[in-house]
Amino acid sequence: MLVLDGGKVIDPAGDRVIGRGRIIIDSGKIVDAGSVSEVDVPDSSSVIDTGGLTIMPGLIDAHMHITGFRSGDYVRESLLTPFGVFVARAIKDLEAMLDAGYTTVVDAGSIVALHLRDAVEEGVVRGPRILASGYPLSQTFGHGDIHFLPPEMADPRTSPVKIPFQSLLCDGEDEFRKGARYALREGADFLKIFVTGGVASQKDKPEYPQMTRREIAAVVEEARRAGRFVHAHAESSEGYINAVEEGVRTLAHGMDLNQDAVNVSLERDVTLIPTLSIVDVTLKFGPSINLPDWMLEKLQEVHERHIESVKKAYREGVRLAAGTDFFIGAKDVQLYGLNSLEIKLLVNLGVKPMDALKAATINAAVSAGLDRITGSLETGKVADIIVVDGDPTENPEILVNQNNIKMVIKEGKIVKQM
Ligand SMILES: [Zn+2]
Repeated sequence: MLVLDGGKVIDPAGDRVIGRGRIIIDSGKIVDAGSVSEVDVPDSSSVIDTGGLTIMPGLIDAHMHITGFRSGDYVRESLLTPFGVFVARAIKDLEAMLDAGYTTVVDAGSIVALHLRDAVEEGVVRGPRILASGYPLSQTFGHGDIHFLPPEMADPRTSPVKIPFQSLLCDGEDEFRKGARYALREGADFLKIFVTGGVASQKDKPEYPQMTRREIAAVVEEARRAGRFVHAHAESSEGYINAVEEGVRTLAHGMDLNQDAVNVSLERDVTLIPTLSIVDVTLKFGPSINLPDWMLEKLQEVHERHIESVKKAYREGVRLAAGTDFFIGAKDVQLYGLNSLEIKLLVNLGVKPMDALKAATINAAVSAGLDRITGSLETGKVADIIVVDGDPTENPEILVNQNNIKMVIKEGKIVKQM
């Protein structure tokens, strides 16, 4: 048994704060958590003094892409980089995220992530637990299509080259069903779809609805029958509402949501993952990492509306989860490991610090269907815990600096200790 003794305990689920807390871990799980006066130290346990530090649940990034990309120059990089090099780089990126306190990450599209998920589970690679969608499903000319490549190269089933990010191109209900089954056959933990256009796709626009309702419903049904869920890329209202009404409960981006979209989110109890980080970092570093001009122009266009849209959703009570949408570990700008930037950006736009921490723990777990396993310090959950120097409810920014993450415990094992 392992005991974390003393220190402030912050459990965003239930807004719980304990001045001097004690956490008991046994066989990878939390068996007790409370104040030092309530919880006894069991015999023959190893006690770690966490006095003066803060204990909280391991962080979760609810939407990102583990790709091994090192530039924004997709065409060159995809075609010139041997696939194994992408995988090797991604292993480094996983380590960086674990050291930053991320014990779970949700990959919303990348075959690299799907394979590394198994390697992490085996224990050969050091990294957060990965929940992976593998190949996402996109309509032709959808956000997941790679508009500047021939269609055969955009779809992994026909492509002569293996690229970290490729989508199954499907049109019509039957093709989407087949795509869904193919993704599941490859090992997807959940199904990722694109129900609107977006910023990182060359020829469409964020406001375009994509996939018909019947296509969306077909994927939702295939997911349900296999005990999985659907996670949708949704930037604007029409496609967003279509998805929610057809049964999608996890939606990412929400760049421009109207009142109807907010209302339907509340009625159906969905989780919105705003992904503020990717907009912030690409506006800052885009030109230096060779992101194409058309992408930067689209980002400029959506940026302000995005902030207003997320503020409105938060004000009206939509559940928010923190996801960065990081997809590049640029040489000079290593994004992986800076995932807590999302918490900081949420706070910057008016989200209360405790709510921002909720977004990166319990709400992220809900968005990934993992809330019975992780995302809080409740008894019976897997012991995914971090110990940090400072109080993130007072200053959430401390989480962005890895030096403040003094200890990371994943499934009851200490995986980082400073
Ligand atoms: Zn994404």
